Amino acid sequence: MTLDDIKVQIQNGKKIVILTHENPDGDAIGSSLAMYGALQQLKKDVDVIIPEVPRCFKFLPFADKIKKESKEKYDLAIAVDCANEKRLKGFEDYYENAKVKIQIDHHGVNTMFADYNYVDPVEPACAQILTKVLPYWNIDITKEIGTCLLTGIITDTGGFRHSGVTAETFEFAAWILRKGVNVSNVYRNVLQTVSKSSFELNTIARSRMEFYENGKITFTYITYEDEKKVKAETGDHEGIVDVGRDIEGVEVSIFLRELENGGYKVSLRSNDYVNVSDICLMFGGGGHVKAAGCTITSGTLEQVKEKLIAQTKLYLK
Ligand code: 5GP
Ligand code: MN
Repeated sequence: MTLDDIKVQIQNGKKIVILTHENPDGDAIGSSLAMYGALQQLKKDVDVIIPEVPRCFKFLPFADKIKKESKEKYDLAIAVDCANEKRLKGFEDYYENAKVKIQIDHHGVNTMFADYNYVDPVEPACAQILTKVLPYWNIDITKEIGTCLLTGIITDTGGFRHSGVTAETFEFAAWILRKGVNVSNVYRNVLQTVSKSSFELNTIARSRMEFYENGKITFTYITYEDEKKVKAETGDHEGIVDVGRDIEGVEVSIFLRELENGGYKVSLRSNDYVNVSDICLMFGGGGHVKAAGCTITSGTLEQVKEKLIAQTKLYLK
C-alpha cells in the first residue's frame, strides 16, 4: 500500500465521504476540511460529515460545507485523525459499508482499521502529514487548504509548543505565511479566544484543582450540571486539562468530564516521562505519549478518581 495506491482509489471513487473522530478538535476538523478542499480540486463528489463542530472552527474555509448527517450511500470513505473505528463518528452509517476505506492518521495506537492505512505516529498532527501527502498527489495547497492545515497543526501542537514539533512544522508555517495566510489570526481564533462559558468552566475546574504525590499529579473535574449552568457548547472544556499540566513540578494532569448519560470522559496529559497513552489503554482508551484519553462508565467520581490516581502513581519516578 502506497500513497499512489490511495490516489488511484480516490480517482476511482464516485461518491466520497470524509469522517473524523468524535469530540472533534482542531486537527480533526482542519484535516477533514483540508481533505475536502483537496478532493474538490480533483473535482470529486465529496461530503464531509461532522455532527458537532466547536464554534471557534466555524470561520474555517469550507466549514459551511460540513454536513451533520446524510442519507447518501458512499463507495469511498476517508477517515482522518482517528485512532480506531470506535472513535470514528459515523462509522456505522457511512464508513463500515463503503467499498473502499482509507485512513490518514498520526496516532501510535492506531488499529489499522481501514483497507488503506497511511499512519505516521512521528508527525505531531494529522494535518502535518497532509502538508506532504497533498502536494505528492499534485494538489495545490491554496490559502484555504493551508488555513485548514495550519489550524490542525496549531491546535495539536498547543501553538508550536509540544515536543512533537519538528522543523517541518515551522517550515510549513513560514511557507503558508508567505503565501498570505494570517497565521496570527488563525492562532488567535483557534487557541487564544475562548467563549464566556468556556472561561467559566475553566474557572470552576481551577477552583477544584487537587494535588497528589508531592505535586506530581493534578486532578480536577467538571460535572454535567456545571456545563448546563454555564450553557456550555461543544468544545468548551478544551484546554482545562492543560491548566494542571502547566503547573511547575507536575508530571501528569488528570481531568474528568462527566457525560450526560453518566460515566466520565477522561483526559490525561504528561510533561516529561510518563506515557499517558499506556495508562489510558488500561481503561480501554489511548492516544499519544503525552496526551491521551478514555471513557470510564462505571463508578462514582471518587472511585474513578482513585482508580486513575492509583494507576498513574505506578508510572511516576
Ligand atoms: P483529549 O484528552 O483531548 O480528548 O484527547 C487527547 C488524545 O487522546 C487525542 O489524540 C485523542 O484522539 C486521544 N483520545 C481521547 N480519548 C480517547 C479514547 O477514548 N480512546 C482513544 N483510543 N483515544 C482517545
Ligand atoms: Mn490529531
